[in-house]
Amino acid sequence: MSQYWSRIIRELKPYIPGEQPKENRYIKLNTNENPYPPSPRVIDAIVKAVDSTLRRYPDPNCDALKQIIAVYYGLNKGNVFVGNGSDEILALSFISFFKQSLPILFPDISYSFYEVYCGIFEIQNIRVPLTEDFDISLVDYEQPNGGIIFPNPNAPTGKLLSLEQIKKLLEQNGETVVIVDEAYIDFGGDTAVQLIGEHPNLLVAQTFSKSRSLAGLRVGTALGSEELIEGLERAKNAFNSYPLDRLAITGAVEAIRDEAYFRATCKKVMDTRERTVAALSKMGFSIIPSVANFIFIKPPGIRAGELYTRLKDDKVLVRYFDKPRINEYLRVTIGTDAEMQTFIEKTAKIVGVV
Ligand code: PMP
Repeated sequence: MSQYWSRIIRELKPYIPGEQPKENRYIKLNTNENPYPPSPRVIDAIVKAVDSTLRRYPDPNCDALKQIIAVYYGLNKGNVFVGNGSDEILALSFISFFKQSLPILFPDISYSFYEVYCGIFEIQNIRVPLTEDFDISLVDYEQPNGGIIFPNPNAPTGKLLSLEQIKKLLEQNGETVVIVDEAYIDFGGDTAVQLIGEHPNLLVAQTFSKSRSLAGLRVGTALGSEELIEGLERAKNAFNSYPLDRLAITGAVEAIRDEAYFRATCKKVMDTRERTVAALSKMGFSIIPSVANFIFIKPPGIRAGELYTRLKDDKVLVRYFDKPRINEYLRVTIGTDAEMQTFIEKTAKIVGVV
């Protein structure tokens, strides 16, 4: 605490990201990164872009990247926003759309950054409880609000709301902005992008950090009606004219171009997820059906917090949230087959199944 801090910063509880250990001695299954490297074409493109043009600012509008994303989704460039990771885009969205007189709504169990944005921008919010089975119940969102946001699939549960349900939600809530945070959509869900044409209040946020293996590059995108995108551009141009550097723009463009690599990587992660689920089910874990690159699991006969610590001692890092309703679960990112095999073997020893 410092006398120099503003009231907002004094009262804020910042987001705590998962650990990024400096040493490489862990099997790292704690931050939902992709276990596979970015496409070799992406690396090549970035390496080639390291030249004297770095003395120049990048394109403030990121036109090349917006254009290729627009074509990819069958939209216009005016429907696409890009930012320094989807976290930055979410922050800009909160200030652009959610600072209203009514509270915004989001699930009680969801991405914990949402609360932090509400804190820094002083946005009132209601955390709407998920059902016992961790489902979003649409009727609970039938109330006056200043906006709605949820991850789809949800984090950390991995559960998906269908496009039909999202459509219903948009129909019942036409007055305020609905943000669907699709950080994990490429691992088995259907994107809500196709609903944008009919719903000018829908914003879909996506990231290159997970399915495109580029967490280190920091690139995210948001797709929506031109009026929403223009709102985001106004907010962006009040913070930072150049959120994406030259190398990030180049790498992200190439990542979209290499569709075959993207598809193959997503498939590998999904296949490994299903094998992991099968092995853990045999061990007696309860597992929430996941369409993300992580699984949310409840261990048999041992506290989740204890299993987290024992795995960490054994050089496997997973994520434990010591929060009401979810403190008996662990969130485990899907790694390579070999990493998951090691995780399964070590876990089996700890829970005493072998
Ligand atoms: N949304 C959700 C639900 C996430 O889990 C994450 C990753 N922590 C993000 C957004 C942000 O991802 P990034 O800033 O890397 O694009």
